[in-house]
Amino acid sequence: MTAATLILLAGEVVFREGDAPGAAYLIESGKIEVSVTQNQQRLVLSYLGAGDLLGEMAAIDDAPRSAEARAVEASVLTIIERDQIHERLNEADPIVRALMGSLLHRYRSGLLAARGSSGIVSANSPGPKAAVGHIKLAGQAVNKFRLESQLMGAIENDELSVVFQPLYEFASERVVGFEALTRWAHPERGNISPAEFIALAEETSLILPVGQYALRKSCEALKALDTEFPDCFIAVNISARQSAVPDFAELIEKQARMIGIDPRRLELEITESLTLDYDLVRALIERCHSLGIRISLDDFGTGLSNLGHLHELEFDTVKLDQAFTRQMMSNERCFELVRGIVNMIHAIGAKVIAEGVETREQAEKLRGLGVEYLQGWYIGRPAPPEDMIGFLARVGMP
Ligand code: C2E
Ligand code: CA
Ligand code: CA
Repeated sequence: MTAATLILLAGEVVFREGDAPGAAYLIESGKIEVSVTQNQQRLVLSYLGAGDLLGEMAAIDDAPRSAEARAVEASVLTIIERDQIHERLNEADPIVRALMGSLLHRYRSGLLAARGSSGIVSANSPGPKAAVGHIKLAGQAVNKFRLESQLMGAIENDELSVVFQPLYEFASERVVGFEALTRWAHPERGNISPAEFIALAEETSLILPVGQYALRKSCEALKALDTEFPDCFIAVNISARQSAVPDFAELIEKQARMIGIDPRRLELEITESLTLDYDLVRALIERCHSLGIRISLDDFGTGLSNLGHLHELEFDTVKLDQAFTRQMMSNERCFELVRGIVNMIHAIGAKVIAEGVETREQAEKLRGLGVEYLQGWYIGRPAPPEDMIGFLARVGMP
């Protein structure tokens, strides 16, 4: 079980009336009784079961708990930290937030009114039942909250790992570096694609510890290669939220020095997205360059990549999205487009890494265009750190 789970025996209390606000809970199994006590009388407001959300009101409005929650049978709850809820609320449309606050206020007043001036809850009143009703989240939201809670525990439970995919340089005819890619082996669901869990982590600041983990593992891998391959570098993916961390470049440098590697052996890969703040990125690039850390622009040519910013930001390398590598083989227009893109990137003084190279034909065509680096299954699949030496020792393409 991950740290994000609460296991209760029958009779155990989750929270009491008047308790300071804390986390919310998703009931995975069992039965929870929600009640209020007045004049030594306990009145049950509701029984909640699997799939119900518990204690989310206090997590949303930071008011003390207005009811008691107790397990009536052995129960398993997934903890939803207040930050998970708050960060989403803070990013929500202000009008939606105001509506939510007003609704919550009305719920809480209903609860008080139902108790009346005597403080005794009237069982006939619709107030309390409405206040602590069965709030079922839509299936997708439930899965997201659950997965997010589990991801929080995944780092300490050793469920994450980092694999390294080789980057081949035409000029030296060797693998000269690697890209670090994070993996999550979920105890029940098996391997979860980074497309899913990184996107989820990026919705909240959970991406910070995940990103920090990838960085630490990369530094450790470089350290292990120190004596034989002191020039080998590792490119680490950085999300928009990380680039906004104050003194992020210095943090990276500190991490590298702590593990005992030269920070100049690290490269950061940044992908353009709606949440990317270009002023912050410009400042980050400057700081990184002064420390000798290189910056790569990822997934160029697809998604939200913006030519308007290319001339302003001093990227060292640009990674051509794998869609181009695939399509240029059968589509002449795409091939000409790739030629144009490569020339444009060279013209601004950056180097090109072609992604998703799966065949020798693709590699040769890219060489002809003057692309400097290749990445893809043809060169090598993402592999555990112990396989890095094998890639580095090889001369020439496979
Ligand atoms: P990306 O940065 O574009 O990484 C390249 C993806 O292409 C990887 O997918 C890699 O396994 C895959 N790939 C490499 N060569 C080939 C090929 O020849 N053919 C095909 N079909 N695919 C190839 P992966 O590992 O599933 O990662 C997906 C995305 O998740 C990455 O895309 C990156 O944006 C993100 N990601 C992974 N690890 C981290 C991390 O630690 N931090 C952040 N912020 N994002 C990460
Ligand atoms: Ca990348
Ligand atoms: Ca990419």
